[in-house]
Amino acid sequence: MSRVFNFSAGPAVLPEEVLKTAAAEMLDYHGSGMSVMEMSHRSKVYESIIETAEQDIRDLYGIPDNYRVLFLQGGASLQFSMIPMNLMKNGKAAYIVTGQWAKKAWQEAGKYGEAIKIASSEDKTFSYIPDCSDLPVPEDADYVYICENNTIYGTKYKKLPNTKGHPLVADVSSCFLSEPVNISDYGIIYGGVQKNVGPAGVVISIIREDLIPDEPYFAGTPTMMSFKTHADAKSLYNTPPTYGIYICGLVFKWLKEQGGLAVMKERNEKKAALLYEFLDQSRMFSGTVVPEDRSIMNVPFVTGNSDLDKKFVAESEAAGLVNLKGHRTVGGMRASLYNAMPYEGVETLVQFMERFEKENR
Ligand SMILES: *Cc1c(COP(=O)(O)O)cnc(C)c1O
Repeated sequence: MSRVFNFSAGPAVLPEEVLKTAAAEMLDYHGSGMSVMEMSHRSKVYESIIETAEQDIRDLYGIPDNYRVLFLQGGASLQFSMIPMNLMKNGKAAYIVTGQWAKKAWQEAGKYGEAIKIASSEDKTFSYIPDCSDLPVPEDADYVYICENNTIYGTKYKKLPNTKGHPLVADVSSCFLSEPVNISDYGIIYGGVQKNVGPAGVVISIIREDLIPDEPYFAGTPTMMSFKTHADAKSLYNTPPTYGIYICGLVFKWLKEQGGLAVMKERNEKKAALLYEFLDQSRMFSGTVVPEDRSIMNVPFVTGNSDLDKKFVAESEAAGLVNLKGHRTVGGMRASLYNAMPYEGVETLVQFMERFEKENR
């Protein structure tokens, strides 16, 4: 068996220790005589799995008691609808469009109310984060929405927007649990877990309690898309993605063992710095994002020659550095450096890039 260095943007690399634990527990989870996949979500043993997972993410992020943690389905994309359906009390929300995921969320919200684009970086292919210190947030907006780390373009908010007192809703799919955050700065902070936390099929939404309405404001909202449904049932209204939640729980334990989110932030910054420093001195490769808004999770780069890009992707793949092809809308390459990517993986990548540059000058 040999493992590659997997730079995929998502589904993405998971900690090897977690995969080994899951393998060891596959046939008989803690003496239950069955796999987690096979057990009732109403059983004592599963209850303990989901409750422990919730407690561990609460510990990691320091989630205050007035926030609910919901384990949901439908990916980050279903939150694009659930959020406006549940939060648009005045039928109005402000969106900052910094990439494809924010744009999709903005477009979707327009189906349920007035979704106002108050800033965008589309004029320069989403290669920067706009100044968000004094945006025209409507008085009666129900929330301000951002995508905090732009997976495709490789930008990240280094400072949260001034929402002028309105709740901030943030999609953190691709920077989930990558660094400590102050949860109280958010009304909702949510993410699909398949980027940095677990297997596809689970989305975790951390919601300030007072934002969960008794009835969604959008008439005709399906029961399954009401936050209240899942909050009241502690994410067990119907059968949740049981195995996926179990793996997330193992990842939370792993993060705690590593020393928590401050340690992850330090490691992630160190990995990203190694790659950015190389890009900044290279004569062949360059980053595509303004330096001050660079993501430490997703690093897009190009050679400026699409044939050379193709050659790089093919040769890196053959060398065991996989999934480096950039998103189809950006081209070039993209290296995703999530929590589970070891420093050694980035070192190997940079060494490969150095060699490639010499050989193809
Ligand atoms: C991948 C991604 C999504 C879409 O996630 P799905 O779970 O596939 O719906 C949304 N937002 C961001 C920031 C992403 O990286």
